[in-house]
Amino acid sequence: MKRKAILLFAAVVAFYLPGAWAAEGQAGSAPKAKNVIWIIGDGMGPGAMGMFMQGVRLTSLPQYPAKQSTLEQFINASVTGVYFNHTYDTIVTDSAGSATQMSSGRLSRPDYIGVDYNGKKVENLLEEARQHGKAVGVITDAYVTDATPAGFLAHVKSRKERNEIARQIVDGKAQVVLGGGQKYFTQEENKKLLAKARKKGWAVVENTQELAAVKQGRVLGLFAEDGMPFYGDMEQYPQTPTLKEMTQKAVELLSQNEEGFVLMVEAGKIDWALHDNEAGPAMWEMLNLDETLAYVWNFARQSGDTLVYVNADHETGIPAFHYHHLDEDIAKHKSAQGEMLYGGNTDFVNYPYYQKVFAHKHLLYYMYPKFEQLPAEEKTAEKLQEMADEALGGHLDLQLNGQVPDYAGLLDKTNEALGLVWATGNHSSGMLLGVAYGPGADGFAGVYHNTDLKGKFEKALGW
Ligand SMILES: [Zn+2]
Repeated sequence: MKRKAILLFAAVVAFYLPGAWAAEGQAGSAPKAKNVIWIIGDGMGPGAMGMFMQGVRLTSLPQYPAKQSTLEQFINASVTGVYFNHTYDTIVTDSAGSATQMSSGRLSRPDYIGVDYNGKKVENLLEEARQHGKAVGVITDAYVTDATPAGFLAHVKSRKERNEIARQIVDGKAQVVLGGGQKYFTQEENKKLLAKARKKGWAVVENTQELAAVKQGRVLGLFAEDGMPFYGDMEQYPQTPTLKEMTQKAVELLSQNEEGFVLMVEAGKIDWALHDNEAGPAMWEMLNLDETLAYVWNFARQSGDTLVYVNADHETGIPAFHYHHLDEDIAKHKSAQGEMLYGGNTDFVNYPYYQKVFAHKHLLYYMYPKFEQLPAEEKTAEKLQEMADEALGGHLDLQLNGQVPDYAGLLDKTNEALGLVWATGNHSSGMLLGVAYGPGADGFAGVYHNTDLKGKFEKALGW
């Protein structure tokens, strides 16, 4: 009887824990990833990630009825590590040096693409993946010759050699390259480059319909002259695929390869909006990343053998709400509007300010030149407030008091009215977050440097 009971117990455990049972049986062999999808949020430091996740919690966005971002859910289900990104001799990096270090595992310098600090060409993860029979692809919603994608596709001494980067993309071994940057494939000495690309087997596509029509083989998608549109402006560009749509097509094509694939997806304009210190458009670029992550994570859960890694190349801007003391007049004005202030004049920033940040979809950076083009008599503070409200998606009292500031001044007024501060309009050296899900994810825990990443992926892939 006793023996029977033990057997019954074992059978019940085996029935309920088939995965655990199988893993126990393969001592010493950690599960290997067949595919890697690596999402890089350009400039996406912890400040931007936190603002996005907290903003989704404290706002009612139609995209998030449960008030939880995919990024937050993904982090909760994944392994998180932190890492530094200093280069060979600088504390702060640019996208070129960072992409090179992440893709090659070697120390490099700002401005360098695919070469180490000595200027020597270094093999990147995608090139190594090709040797293992994997299909590879690179996607960006900036332009494909920009520093981050170039760091995975080319080898040049300066990121400014965009025509040369375009030639190396065409001559390279990627199966899928999608983004903006058509002009680098058609200008100056590259006038015949797209004809050459077609001869080399690339399908060259320019819009959503043409991309959808590609069912197999190689595809070079160039959907804008330069960078692709900001996510908050996308409804004006119905012919242009979103980052998520490009990623779906890339996965569809690359997953036809029996040996698996490695795909790098850059959400490139988080950085651009953060450089401009415009929080709303930066949050819309985070929404863009979040929507793409939802698709990628779902694919990974279904496939079971795909490692997803989400990180940033560097931090940009460092936005934060801060409490601040108000002038008596402004404190009275705010109180009269029904805003609760603490200590009489201290503004700790009420939750509805997140709603104002998310309402701001369109860059003031694009609005301001339109204001400047108005006839002199129309360039009034009232008109500027009106045009700003349109870009900001609602009325925000900018306290212009009859004055007409320049663009930088308008930004200061906007951030002040939103209770926001920014540490810089450039990059910072701040520590970054890397989040890994799927086979091999455990190797991405702890504190590391961005040159450790290539080795971590190699280990996860079993190389
Ligand atoms: Zn960058």
